Amino acid sequence: MLAIPVLAAVITIAWAADADIYLESIDKKFFNSLNKIESIFKTWFPKFSFSTEYHIENYQINSLNNESYGLLYSGGLDSLSSYIKHKKETLSLISIWGADIPLNKTKFWDKVKYKVTQLAEMDDIKCYFIKTNVREMMNENLLNKTYLEGEDTNWWLSVSHGLILTSLTSLLPIKTLIMPSSMDENEKVPHGSDLFKFMDYRWADSSLIYDCNLSRHEKIKYLLRGNTQYYQFLRVCYTQFQDYNCGMCEKCLRTITGLLIEGIDPNKCNFKVKNGFLDLIKYYLSNNIILLHSEIAAWEDIQNNIPEESSIEFSFGLKNLILMIIIIKRTIKKEYF
Ligand SMILES: [Zn+2]
Repeated sequence: MLAIPVLAAVITIAWAADADIYLESIDKKFFNSLNKIESIFKTWFPKFSFSTEYHIENYQINSLNNESYGLLYSGGLDSLSSYIKHKKETLSLISIWGADIPLNKTKFWDKVKYKVTQLAEMDDIKCYFIKTNVREMMNENLLNKTYLEGEDTNWWLSVSHGLILTSLTSLLPIKTLIMPSSMDENEKVPHGSDLFKFMDYRWADSSLIYDCNLSRHEKIKYLLRGNTQYYQFLRVCYTQFQDYNCGMCEKCLRTITGLLIEGIDPNKCNFKVKNGFLDLIKYYLSNNIILLHSEIAAWEDIQNNIPEESSIEFSFGLKNLILMIIIIKRTIKKEYF
């Protein structure tokens, strides 16, 4: 069991770079899962060598007899809405430092940790914090350049994050791990946790629920909206590590737009929306700053949910919301889609 997180950290690099694996023992179910992942990756990553030889002395069958559910939780829209959806289970939150928040961002991590703890205390549930230096040990730029194709792909997101984040939880007393993600029917580039859609991923007697049945906007619409006590925990921004959400980057603007369309005041969700917001969003759209395919698909998702007529009340003084929605709808439709 102890070897699971370590093997998960190095195995994708071994598959790519023609390295062999030497181990005293490994959990048998996890090893079987790796074999299935390898066969999926063979169709995703044509530059990998896939000639790794395994020198493993023992394959162990483990039984942990855990009962509870755990949720990989970052505070983002996916994980917060998964939490709202699954909170009736005996659920623990699991937050990982060293994944999206670098280890040298101590103050910001403390802020995030405080919020996670606050949520856990509010609902009287457990939370676990894991610290990992796994990303500091990989040369992701070199791996991107050597083994991946296309500007939308990167090692962490496309290859390794699903396997690494899940494996880090393998030593917690959790039977069923929930990994939140968003449904994206139009996804064109590999996404390193979507492999869990196609396989039964497990170790010992544990199992995984890959929670990706709704799009990002549907999550705002069906899960977040109305659950006002959870608005204060939303954190979607990864471009900076000072504020909970910067309110300026593409992802923040996209989330703010989605919230507005559903009548949720973004200022209650850790955003600071001021009157210049409309101009900024128009600038992004009209200067083609939304470049990545996944981002365009996410805007299309919002566009599909723009009501033809809206009676949304504004609670924060942004009086021309309806006008903004119409502007975005026209801009996206005519110029970019
Ligand atoms: Zn941001």
